[in-house]
Amino acid sequence: MALKLFNTLSRSVQEFAPLHPGKVGMYCCGPTVYDFAHIGNWRTFVFADLVRRTLEFSGYDVKHVMNITDIEDKIIKRVRENKTTLREFTGKFETAFLDDLKALGCREPHVKPRATEYIAEIIALIEKLVARGIAYKASDGSVYFSITKYQGCGCNYGQLLKLNFDEMRAGERVSSDEYEKESVADFALWKARVPDDGDIFWPSPFGEGRPGWHIECSAMSMKVLGESFDLHLGGEDLKFPHHEDEIAQSEGATGKPFVKYWLHGAHLLVEGKKMSKSLGNYFTLRDLVAKGFTGREVRYLLLTAHYRETFNFTLDGLAGAKTALARIDECVGKLREAGRDALPRVQADPQVSPTELEKNFTDAISEDLNISAAWGAVFEWVRETNKKLTENSLSAADAAANLAAWDKIDAVLGISVKTETEVPAEILALAEARTEAKKAKDFKRADAIRDEVKAKGWIVEDSPKGIKLKKI
Ligand code: AMP
Ligand code: ZN
Repeated sequence: MALKLFNTLSRSVQEFAPLHPGKVGMYCCGPTVYDFAHIGNWRTFVFADLVRRTLEFSGYDVKHVMNITDIEDKIIKRVRENKTTLREFTGKFETAFLDDLKALGCREPHVKPRATEYIAEIIALIEKLVARGIAYKASDGSVYFSITKYQGCGCNYGQLLKLNFDEMRAGERVSSDEYEKESVADFALWKARVPDDGDIFWPSPFGEGRPGWHIECSAMSMKVLGESFDLHLGGEDLKFPHHEDEIAQSEGATGKPFVKYWLHGAHLLVEGKKMSKSLGNYFTLRDLVAKGFTGREVRYLLLTAHYRETFNFTLDGLAGAKTALARIDECVGKLREAGRDALPRVQADPQVSPTELEKNFTDAISEDLNISAAWGAVFEWVRETNKKLTENSLSAADAAANLAAWDKIDAVLGISVKTETEVPAEILALAEARTEAKKAKDFKRADAIRDEVKAKGWIVEDSPKGIKLKKI
């Protein structure tokens, strides 16, 4: 089934067709490393992980890029306040971010460019815009993007959000990285050095200074993924000005369409308000771990709501996540017992037809990541499977087929516990070979395989329900 996604550019659900068959270039705006990320931020990164996993599940070869914003207004302010160096300060939060990313079961992006390591590319991009007459140096020494000049080239400013240009006053400029859509104005690409910047500046043809936040993402994404690429993601607050400015800078410099599909995730709320640092209504992952929750439970909770719907965070909701996961774990644990022997055969057999679970889940997730229907399919399957297990009406082969299906869809959800005692594929294959040898009455071979399994740290035992594998 073809994958469909809601594209903010067209304001509609579209069938996904990448620029190059079979391959997807995907960029998600990464963290600004000036503090620990809160779980509102994590909602967006877990959403990006879901998109990536769904694309991989659909057979695409994905290149996932997530930048690290390690230079912008807030960072400079904090470095100054903490009397530390830029790298020392951002390094600490970058490490914490990557630890949390792992704890939340997210696949690590293939490329994680840091803005401070792309200064040459950023300068080159600004030079292109200056050469095309779209950027100019103002009296404050900074370089700005001219919206009027950009529009004069036949380009469209306001692709993601409808903007009211009647209220815009020509020549107005904004130098800070964050501003409201009421103040559509020329925005800073290169900020001239000021005393508050301390020793945080780089030389450039426009004078000493530092890049604006928006140009960083244009430069990094195009350097790693090319001038035109498939997917760009972020939280919905980034539509304007950040993403609109990224489009303007990139298309203004290259004259080519920048991104084919824009995906935006809705916010995580607390009592109806966006979870944010400025409102102080936030939890970091660390706060929740200190309360006894796990990254896996937080991931589950963040994955329960559709990505385009706002979602209210509560600690009760998180306790509910614990219960829901326990139900899945129990069912999968029983299936592992029941289907262990037959699993290698089922996994190796391309003829095995997809189970109901797989079909229902695929239909749901392909429909603009309909996660509620996807969980619906999972819990319906848990109910049915538990019933069959109680009735003893599930053969080992059926159990293995169900388990194989669960493993496939869990590659999208990423919520199964991978315990250390999980039996490695090699041991499973040996156990399977031993069963075959016994069936063929080749007991010598069966015993030799049992010894080999033992030498590898496992004991294989026969039981009325089939074989059991135990770690020594
Ligand atoms: P920042 O580190 O502030 O640049 O934000 C990182 C990502 O988190 C961005 O994509 C934001 O849109 C997203 N974000 C910030 N607050 C929330 C929230 N309450 N819910 C969901 N995403 C958020
Ligand atoms: Zn960005």
